[in-house]
Amino acid sequence: MVRTVAVLGSTGSIGTQTLDVIARHPEQFQVVALAAGRNVELLREQAQQFGVQRDYCIENATSPQLAALAGLGTVDVVVNAVVGFAGLSATMAAVSQGKRLGLANKESLIAGGPVVAKARAEGGGEIVPIDSEHSAIYQCLRSGSRSEVKSLILTASGGPFRGRTRRELGSVTVAQALAHPTWSMGPKITIDSSTLINKGLEVIEAHELFGVDFDHIQVVVHPQSIVHSMVEFIDGAVIAQLSHPDMRLPIGLALGAPRRLDEAFGAMDFRDALTLDFEPPDLSTFRGLTLAYSAGRAGGTAPAVLSAANEVAVAAFLGGGIAWTAIDEAVDAVLQLGTVPADTVEDVLAADAEARRRCQEHLERISR
Ligand code: MG
Repeated sequence: MVRTVAVLGSTGSIGTQTLDVIARHPEQFQVVALAAGRNVELLREQAQQFGVQRDYCIENATSPQLAALAGLGTVDVVVNAVVGFAGLSATMAAVSQGKRLGLANKESLIAGGPVVAKARAEGGGEIVPIDSEHSAIYQCLRSGSRSEVKSLILTASGGPFRGRTRRELGSVTVAQALAHPTWSMGPKITIDSSTLINKGLEVIEAHELFGVDFDHIQVVVHPQSIVHSMVEFIDGAVIAQLSHPDMRLPIGLALGAPRRLDEAFGAMDFRDALTLDFEPPDLSTFRGLTLAYSAGRAGGTAPAVLSAANEVAVAAFLGGGIAWTAIDEAVDAVLQLGTVPADTVEDVLAADAEARRRCQEHLERISR
């Protein structure tokens, strides 16, 4: 049977790769809805290529429009590849309507953790991560039962600034921060990788996806980005997933799970020499990781505040307005202002808006 797919954020890095996977497997998947922000020309090309009806192809999509597409009765799988917090409405609609959600928009799950969990339990939706680390964990978890899991071990490439000191990083440029050593991704996530805040967000994402507490989620730096993450079981066995970096592997799994696609992306060839290194993260230089663990443990709106403040600070850095080291300092300053319980979507929206306002204020203050 053909699975019908809505691709939200279709013109971005994950969106275009999702369409590439679908185009290679027309016998398995059919695109029925598309949404994108600014790149209207590409969106129209995509609609034509995949034969998507005009009504289900939305330019400059608003939150209610994203939710409407994600909840369409004709959609089996929603791929949420919207950038940032704007993806929350689509995530909520997909899980509350009992859809399969291929989740590339980690911010919605991180900010909306408690409310997404409630909607997922009530609506019966299923989340399959489109994030290489979480896809790896999703695969490794097939090796044993949940009660046999000891810990999740997320790998991090370390980004372009691995091995540098905080003092050296005060003057790095936007171009240097965008030069990721192993993955080619959109600008927001690439900056998040350079600060390790991305890995911190992924720790919270792992907690929300797999229900493992923060004391049993570890981060290890693995510069080659071959081992995408690991699960340690109670008998000491560590199961890992290996492949060359290619997001089409997790995308294909999110579309086809529980079945794997019969096409290898990022296949390994062990006739080539291969060295795999692992080292602990440098927490004194990359403070975002520690901030994320404390926000995750605090719960409530703290992850929403962390993610929102980070979005504002990253945008300011990309615009040339602040130093790279000011990103996690801004997030820290906004988190200090305290957080509240997150019982409803409105709580999350309010926390998000307030954190953005306070982060903006903080950034204006430091740039004076
Ligand atoms: Mg990732």
